[in-house]
Amino acid sequence: MKYCLLSRGDELSDRLTEKFRELAALRGITEDEEEPDIVVTIGGDGTLLQAFHKFLHRLEEVSFVGVHTGHLGFFADWKANELDLLVSNMAEHAENRHALTVRYPVVEIVLKSRGGETVWHALNEFTVKGNNTMLVAELHINDELFEMFRGDGICVAAPMGSTAYNKSLGGAIIHPNLESIQVSEIASINNRVYRTLGSSLVLPRHHHCDIIPRAGQKLLLSRDHLLEEAEDIESIACRVADKKVGFIRYRPFPFWTRVREAFIQNDGS
Ligand code: NAD
Repeated sequence: MKYCLLSRGDELSDRLTEKFRELAALRGITEDEEEPDIVVTIGGDGTLLQAFHKFLHRLEEVSFVGVHTGHLGFFADWKANELDLLVSNMAEHAENRHALTVRYPVVEIVLKSRGGETVWHALNEFTVKGNNTMLVAELHINDELFEMFRGDGICVAAPMGSTAYNKSLGGAIIHPNLESIQVSEIASINNRVYRTLGSSLVLPRHHHCDIIPRAGQKLLLSRDHLLEEAEDIESIACRVADKKVGFIRYRPFPFWTRVREAFIQNDGS
């Protein structure tokens, strides 16, 4: 079993990364930056998002586990003082790591432009916004026009991202066992001329939506923490991706407990 480490880069995370290396070496676990089985992030949720994008090409092979050096994270649920316990779990369960890995859906985004097609994946969400202007776009669901959107933008979240930006937009929190994507509006304009549904939509696997921006618009596109400008996008197709993201669970931490501890009451972590 091989692991690799990704630190947020602050002093505490870097120090814990070194400590983790020492503990792993004592247990005979090998570090491999190119082809790890387990990717350990030390920092916060943002560090795990970075690791997800770094190892997107090996998503089927790796399992992620996160240590938080700040407040309890959604992805980073091991505490800084539990490194020894985490390393001993990794050593003891090296053989059954696949059985201990839970796999959750992510969003697939296909961007079409005159230049061709680009495929993106997002663990939390994809967003499209107008760049310094309003977004004007058709929203199609399963190849039928659903509504004409005008407003700041549209967010398409994976279930694990439903507690992130999607939640701030008033979207529902979706258990990650539900293979779905959630489409939410970002500040839509609604009056007698422009009308959108105003509620978030949850689409199951095998359904898809297409966002067709008005031609020539300057756009701001995001997938998780990554932001890009674009001008020549003709259509954006979103659906549940075929590949999933894996998190290794050495101990139970039910999703609803995680939600409660993050948003309602934290029992001391
Ligand atoms: P970051 O790491 O500082 O993350 C921002 C905050 O979002 C942190 O508090 C983090 O713990 C939390 N977070 C991230 N993923 C989460 C999840 N799945 N569930 C619950 N909380 C989560 O900054 P970053 O690395 O740039 O993070 C990018 C993320 O920030 C995006 O994926 C998006 O979800 C989020 N975001 C939120 C808003 C908003 O709520 N208004 C706006 C923009 C971006």
